[in-house]
Amino acid sequence: MAASDTQARTSWETLIGQTAPALAPIREGAILSGQGADDVPVRVSSLEYKGYIEMWDTRTGALNLCPQWFWWQAAKLQQADGTLMYTRTNPHIAPNYGEDLVCPLNPLAPSYADIAGMGFKPCRKRHIPNQAAVEAHVLHSHGRAHTAMATRRSEQHRAEDRALQVEAVRSQQEFMRVLMAQIVGAPAQAAGPPPPKRSHQRGGNSRPRESGPGG
Ligand SMILES: [Zn+2]
Repeated sequence: MAASDTQARTSWETLIGQTAPALAPIREGAILSGQGADDVPVRVSSLEYKGYIEMWDTRTGALNLCPQWFWWQAAKLQQADGTLMYTRTNPHIAPNYGEDLVCPLNPLAPSYADIAGMGFKPCRKRHIPNQAAVEAHVLHSHGRAHTAMATRRSEQHRAEDRALQVEAVRSQQEFMRVLMAQIVGAPAQAAGPPPPKRSHQRGGNSRPRESGPGG
């Protein structure tokens, strides 16, 4: 029984093998031309069926995944000027990336060398339109890296502040040293006259007191 089963299966597979070469195998990326006159050529994007069809916006080039059941309607949608809204073939329109920044963990980032030694996995994110979006991406996608970078930044600020303070104290000390050198350099003029005046005043004061009681 088992032997005849196997025999039947192999003969069936042999039959398929004989007829199959007549059908061209479908490959990803192939463009299937329609059978009828009004059929649209279809590009095979993936052999794994997902229930969605790739459609590109004819103006922006943005990719949309259209549900299979909606395709027949989406294909008829028109722009205001009457041209079709979507196309099944990628128009390769370069999108507007704004400032076109990269994630700081991307090896393409100019400051990557500073972060490379911190042990975080490199990130491929790029085409980020502005700095706020970069920070949002780092915060949400690289939480630990975000904390580590913030810590490092505050440490750098603290070191800069300390260096500024040291510099301020040093320049103050230098100023005081110059000032002291000037004072010490001219002692005879500055300190000479006052003592005789004081002694004269004291002498002047003492004499009337002595003469007061005496007179
Ligand atoms: Zn990233």
